[in-house]
Amino acid sequence: MATSPVVPDKRPQEELNRAVIFLGPPGAGKGTQAKKLAAKYSVPHLSTGDMLREHVARGTPLGVKAKPIMERGELVSDSLVLKIVAERIERPDCSHGFVFDGFPRTVAQAQYLGELLKQHGYRRPVVIHLLIDTALILRRITGRRTCKMGGEIYNLFERPPKVEGRCDDDGGELWQRPDDREEIVGPRLRAYEKQTEPLVAYYRRLGLLHDVDASKSVEEVEQQIWRTLHQARGKH
Ligand code: ADP
Ligand code: AMP
Repeated sequence: MATSPVVPDKRPQEELNRAVIFLGPPGAGKGTQAKKLAAKYSVPHLSTGDMLREHVARGTPLGVKAKPIMERGELVSDSLVLKIVAERIERPDCSHGFVFDGFPRTVAQAQYLGELLKQHGYRRPVVIHLLIDTALILRRITGRRTCKMGGEIYNLFERPPKVEGRCDDDGGELWQRPDDREEIVGPRLRAYEKQTEPLVAYYRRLGLLHDVDASKSVEEVEQQIWRTLHQARGKH
């Protein structure tokens, strides 16, 4: 009998043991869903955006280089991002798989990742492609607020916190990313269309891409992702 694809309340018994990649435009819900999936499997949520913002906040040489590029809504160089990712997946907490959010973002990054996963003996990744109308994106991006302490993601229009400016979970201050201002959304979407969207065809050709309608509620999208992952694991 087929196993039920309903999102389980607790950690599934099987390990993830592979990379899951969230692909989609800014604001599609990659971070929201990647966090949930990673928590479910107790594997790391690897957001290159978060890692870069941490470098910026700490003022490391890498952060100093990345800051103006991120503020303009452009992509930082492949070499910078690949260095961070290659180091990160070497850590022992990645041994049972991991969930990428915002990586890869160029064909060169995807090719490098493919090699890296092979070298480490992982199976082929599952790529979840979040589809969303441009009209919804602006609302999601300009309304986004993130907890400074735990990183929980809110939306002033769709998922507001109970107390204005404070995280429901830990009371942390909610923060707006500088690149979430309306005037930076255009450049970010153009970067997505030009540099990242070709990955849709790239992964589809490899048979690894799975489309999910990201315009639905967080819970419905989570359910669709769960079902998709369940089916994909049986196939590749
Ligand atoms: P991404 O990582 O793709 O840029 P996020 O996960 O940060 O996107 O989500 C962008 C914004 O949209 C956040 O404010 C988040 O709370 C909100 N959001 C995410 N998924 C949904 C959804 N399914 N319905 C409504 N709002 C959502
Ligand atoms: P995100 O948090 O994923 O929206 O990313 C924020 C910003 O970080 C992007 O607009 C880029 O400037 C940079 N960034 C994050 N991930 C990557 C990546 N994989 N390649 C290049 N730039 C990235």
